[in-house]
Amino acid sequence: MQKHDQKYHSQTVAIRHGYRRTDEQEHGEPIFPTSSYVFDSAQQAVDRFSGEEAGNIYSRFTNPTVAGFENRLAALEGGRYCIGTASGMAAITGLVLAVLNAGDHVIASAGLFGSTVNLFTKYYARFGVDTSFVDLTGIEQWKRAVRPNTRLIFLESPSNPLCEIGDLPAIGEIARENGIRFVVDNAFCTPVLQQPLKLGADIVVHSATKYLDGQGRCVGGALVTNDEKTHDALFGMLRTTGPCMSPFNAWTFSKGLETLPLRMEQHCANALEVAKWLEVHPAVKRVHYPGLASHPQHELAKKQYRGFGGIVSFEVRGSRSEAWKVIDHTEFLSITANLGDVKTTITHPATTTHLRITQPERDRAGITDSLVRVSVGLEHVEDIIGDLERGLDRIRK
Ligand SMILES: *Cc1c(COP(=O)(O)O)cnc(C)c1O
Repeated sequence: MQKHDQKYHSQTVAIRHGYRRTDEQEHGEPIFPTSSYVFDSAQQAVDRFSGEEAGNIYSRFTNPTVAGFENRLAALEGGRYCIGTASGMAAITGLVLAVLNAGDHVIASAGLFGSTVNLFTKYYARFGVDTSFVDLTGIEQWKRAVRPNTRLIFLESPSNPLCEIGDLPAIGEIARENGIRFVVDNAFCTPVLQQPLKLGADIVVHSATKYLDGQGRCVGGALVTNDEKTHDALFGMLRTTGPCMSPFNAWTFSKGLETLPLRMEQHCANALEVAKWLEVHPAVKRVHYPGLASHPQHELAKKQYRGFGGIVSFEVRGSRSEAWKVIDHTEFLSITANLGDVKTTITHPATTTHLRITQPERDRAGITDSLVRVSVGLEHVEDIIGDLERGLDRIRK
């Protein structure tokens, strides 16, 4: 499969790419639960350690099951290199440590994942990395934020939980003109809906925990790039600091990738139907979903995405107690902050995922108390709507 992947469709790559069959002729992908590897001789050990000969040494560096997942994800993203990590946050942590120095400046989008905001503002600030947050959709703001020491642009598109959309080619152009590395967190779209490397990104970040797994089993992450130097820097940092992906998790994620194209298609279809239904419900003030014509960047979304994703957020008429009413009256929707699962999940961002950021940060990101986020799963869409209806109908209009 390896050398022919360009001629196959992504559905085929997702199922067939990445693994080399062993002498056992197994049909299913094997798991290699081994911490280290043996050498034929002392000379071979030297050759492996010196890099003279390619091959496994130790599973903090490489592991065949992890490599299978990495190859498959890289091919789906249209990238040459991929590194699996222990979590999405481990991928972002390793990335920053690998490519930034004290005194460097980062420009990031204001609607970032809560832990990512914390990572930059609370932790990397201590090591002399300064971060400016700008409106994802304001191209002029991105331009104005560039400083002589800006080394990294980091964004999520669509944003979480408001589903705002950044113009990746336009932001990529700003990065290129100024010699800045451009990083896109692609956890919400997955390569099925958006391939950032083809839209100007230098590095793609993933939380594999979300759609790549798709069934809420494992925590993991990944970094994908086309640039050999960047890959070497990332790999060097990650193999040294140690947040590697376990072979068991890698196997689960590889299995997840096999059904990813099919799942994403259905997530998108269900989410669009839920969003359309919410939009006309009298207790709903506003729906944030890029697939709706009312979404401010609907046209851009149509251009940039192959589907509008599975995340829908909405503001109820009222405040926190009304938002909680919707959540607490669901029967089977899971009240959990995880997303990208076949199970529909529902959460109140202001008091969960975005609790630890400050009120001004929440205001800047548009996370109001009346906001509810739904990660639309693969149950029958009429049942999902029925479960949301129960609480919404109890809100005094
Ligand atoms: C979940 C998430 C992360 C962090 O990933 P973990 O696997 O939980 O460490 C980063 N970015 C986005 C957009 C996420 O949804």
